[in-house]
Amino acid sequence: MKINSAEFEISNSRADQCPKSNIPEYAFIGRSNVGKSSLINMLTQRKGLAMTSSTPGKTMLINHFRINDEWYLVDLPGYGYAKRSKKDQEKLQNIISFYVLEREQLTNLFVLIDSRLKPQKIDLEFIEWLGENGVPFSIIFTKADKNKKGELRKNVETFLDTLREQWEELPPHFITSSESRLGREELLNYIDNINKS
Ligand code: GDP
Repeated sequence: MKINSAEFEISNSRADQCPKSNIPEYAFIGRSNVGKSSLINMLTQRKGLAMTSSTPGKTMLINHFRINDEWYLVDLPGYGYAKRSKKDQEKLQNIISFYVLEREQLTNLFVLIDSRLKPQKIDLEFIEWLGENGVPFSIIFTKADKNKKGELRKNVETFLDTLREQWEELPPHFITSSESRLGREELLNYIDNINKS
C-alpha cells in the first residue's frame, strides 16, 4: 500500500467522541516507550505525525489519523507507565477498554512488544484480556535493530512460546524497526488485504 495522505483528524478521551465515519480503524497500543510513535511515523512516512514524547506515557488521548481517505490509524495511549498516579492509571484503563470493547469500527488492534525484552507480565495480561473479550489483534515486535545478532529470533520465539502455553492458535505477528523500516511493507500490505477483503 502506498501512503498518499496521512492527516491528523482528532484527539479525544472517549470512544463515543471518536469520528462518526464508518471507515475501518487499525489501532496501535503498547507500553509507554515501546516505540509506538516512531512506528506510526515510520509507517506513514510523516516525521512528526505521532508525537514522540520525551516524557513517556504523558498523553492519555486517542488520536485518529486519516490514511488515504480509506482507513484510520488510531494511536491509543501507552499503558504501564509507573509514574502515573493511581487515579490516572484507572482513567487510562477506562479509556482503553471503552475504545477496544465498544468501538465497532475497530478492525484490528496491533499490540506492540519491545523485541529486546523478556515477556513482560503487563503485556501478557493485556493480551489475555484481548483473548477473553474476542478482540481481533496482531502483535508487532518493535526495535528489531536494537538487538544483538541472534537475540532477536530468540526473544521473539520466547514470547511466542509463552503465548503458546495459553493459546492454541497464535495471532499474526510482525517484526519491525523504525530505524531500518523493517516490516513496513508487510504491515501495510496486511492492512490493505483486510481492507480489500
Ligand atoms: P512511544 O512512547 O511508544 O511512542 O515510543 P517512542 O516512539 O517515543 O520511542 C521511544 C524511544 O525508543 C525513542 O528514543 C525512540 O527513538 C526509540 N525507538 C523507537 N523505535 C525504535 C527503533 O525501531 N529502533 C531504535 N533504534 N530506536 C527506536
